[in-house]
Amino acid sequence: MSDETGMGSDFFKSTDKNPSNIMPEKLTYDSPLQFECHPGVSCFTACCHNIKIVLTPYDILILRQRLGMKSHEFVTEYTEPNYLENTDMPGVQIKLTEDKQACPFVTPEGCTVYGDRPTACRYYPVGMADFHEGGTDDARVDKFFFVVKEDHCKGFEEPKKWTIREWREDQGVDVRDEMNKEWLRLIMRRKSHGHQASLSGPAKRMFFMASTDLDHFRRFIFESSFLDTYEIDQETVDKIKEDDIELMKFSFQYLANTLFGAEGLSIKKGKIMDKVQEIQQRQDDSLRKAEEDYEALKAARDKLPKDRMNLP
Ligand code: SF4
Ligand code: SF4
Repeated sequence: MSDETGMGSDFFKSTDKNPSNIMPEKLTYDSPLQFECHPGVSCFTACCHNIKIVLTPYDILILRQRLGMKSHEFVTEYTEPNYLENTDMPGVQIKLTEDKQACPFVTPEGCTVYGDRPTACRYYPVGMADFHEGGTDDARVDKFFFVVKEDHCKGFEEPKKWTIREWREDQGVDVRDEMNKEWLRLIMRRKSHGHQASLSGPAKRMFFMASTDLDHFRRFIFESSFLDTYEIDQETVDKIKEDDIELMKFSFQYLANTLFGAEGLSIKKGKIMDKVQEIQQRQDDSLRKAEEDYEALKAARDKLPKDRMNLP
């Protein structure tokens, strides 16, 4: 059994690395949860300080739309770079305020972007793990949940009772899971490859650009030779031109293809032939050069007196 996507509160959001915060119980959708977070709890907004909140491409898209900003403006203003899940894949996390180490969206009254808050802020206190038996995409998936209980969190003292399913529906995490799934899979794939080979500089830049700046990624698709190189049907082209979510999903497909050789995108036949010819031409040129060098060397040697050549 291998852990394909062990995602949940710990991946996106962490205050410390204390595993004792995780309750040692495997929960299902129907398991009970007693918890509530509201402005009346004495710790209200405590968890919006001194925290690492990793943003997914979907989080960035939704937040920057809410704030009416371009992707790069949002990323510059509200985030700082990090590396994702101990990999060499670059991502971003929310930049905390310098004085209070607080999330820039928190006020004493609560979260100012609550309806569009990031994935990380929706998971707590319920984490999720997917175990893919055999580690392949179509393998049997065993999904379960677990509770994370931070010492300072008073939400567990509130009387409200839910099932895990009801809690997740209330927090809107199913949509987030769906939107983040393929991006998380890229990171888990990278993680499972270990550090045998590091990503090249251009691969890192491409991953960062596609993950954080869809405006830039769209320009890359439509203003470079991309569409001349790849077989993309017209329906997809029309969709990704107008629809940010379709573009985001396409970027995951493109990254899986370029970083891990996943199927789904193919290069136009003519382009493959051009490439083959280019390689053949290069081989022919280097063979010709080697022959010329050899002939030049032979001619030079023939000019030398026999006694200086040390030859029989
Ligand atoms: S986005 Fe909202 S909920 Fe999340 S840390 Fe910031 S203020 Fe808190
Ligand atoms: S620490 Fe717990 S109860 Fe307090 S604000 Fe955060 S989630 Fe709510």
